[in-house]
Amino acid sequence: MAAKRFIVTGGAGFIGSALVRSLIRDTDASVLVIDKLTYAGNLESLKEAGVVPWSAPDYECDAPAPVPARCEFFQADICDMAAMTAAFEVYCPDAVFHLAAESHVDRSIDGPGEFIRTNIMGTAVLLQAALSYWRNLPEDGDGPTTSTFRFQHISTDEVYGSLGGTGLFTESTPYMPHSPYSASKAASDHLVRAWHDTYGLPTLITNCSNNYGPYHFPEKLIPLVILNCLEGKALPVYGKGANVRDWLHVDDHAAALRIVNEKGVPGETYNVGGRNERTNLEVVQTICRILDELRPRPEGKYEDLIAYVADRPGHDLRYAIDPSKLTDRLGWKPQDNFDTGIRKTVQWYLDNEWWWKPIREKKYAGERLGKSI
Ligand code: NAD
Repeated sequence: MAAKRFIVTGGAGFIGSALVRSLIRDTDASVLVIDKLTYAGNLESLKEAGVVPWSAPDYECDAPAPVPARCEFFQADICDMAAMTAAFEVYCPDAVFHLAAESHVDRSIDGPGEFIRTNIMGTAVLLQAALSYWRNLPEDGDGPTTSTFRFQHISTDEVYGSLGGTGLFTESTPYMPHSPYSASKAASDHLVRAWHDTYGLPTLITNCSNNYGPYHFPEKLIPLVILNCLEGKALPVYGKGANVRDWLHVDDHAAALRIVNEKGVPGETYNVGGRNERTNLEVVQTICRILDELRPRPEGKYEDLIAYVADRPGHDLRYAIDPSKLTDRLGWKPQDNFDTGIRKTVQWYLDNEWWWKPIREKKYAGERLGKSI
């Protein structure tokens, strides 16, 4: 059987690049990364995957295809219908993993417009381009067919809203998003379901809990805290630090995405989570303790840098995922728990200053976002 070809939108971002690196490392598939390269996109995260610019070869889907480089990059906006149509028609993918999005809740509070444009409009454009491509696929053959093609949409558990002290999100929990970010992701999930139910497009949706790991843009809690520690800066904790998130290592998320792609049933949704709930304060304290051990600070304990700041407006109290559908039906199991994953992650930031230093110096130095005033 021919090696598979995947389009990964948002493949220069945090989770997209982890997925691309794993596809290149662990399979014989080829990947076309489509990414606009916003502040969050970084081709340095794809160095290990040997990324090269897409040559956009001039061939037809039914002609013998040239062997593409394993990992190619096409800089494009998912809202650009002509570019998305060309990508599908020329690359002839077996599946698309759709991760391109504006992803930071605090930025969605400061400026929701880009979230509406990329997350909702962009998803609609991509669905329409995929639908035109899928309708022209053969019913059988060696390459992609109408029954084997998949449109896989990567979403978040934040669409379900907030939990109290108990209970878990399941795939049938009603949607109740609160932030502009989660509302835009909820809208995109509904669009994906509509393209399946209305047009029969073979879609898959995954809703995942909070990710952490290497190559994470340092606006998000875990890399922000690690880098602020290393630079002796204050460690901002929203409110009392009591908000609970369910943490999953990004490589476990990438593995889940690949399993869902291979074995998931079109039209279905799968929740992804590691059953690793922690309060934000516990997360910050754990990072401090690991750094006290790995890179002791002459001035004292890292915990001394904790600074409680005004809470995020509309801050959801608790998210927690029930991943049993994915574990029981598709056989996914995370490799890391929070304690092993966070230690590896702290060590990665200690070892990979070449990746994060230019971001801290040129793109984002850690200032507060999303106060809504
Ligand atoms: P990220 O912000 O690190 O990466 C997003 C990528 O999308 C960037 O490379 C960016 O350049 C690209 N992009 C943004 N707008 C684009 C556009 N208009 N056209 C093309 N490319 C564009 O985000 P992430 O944390 O890797 O999240 C990826 C996906 O996973 C998102 O859809 C997010 O909603 C979802 N998700 C994230 C988490 C998490 O904890 N980070 C959890 C669950 C689901």
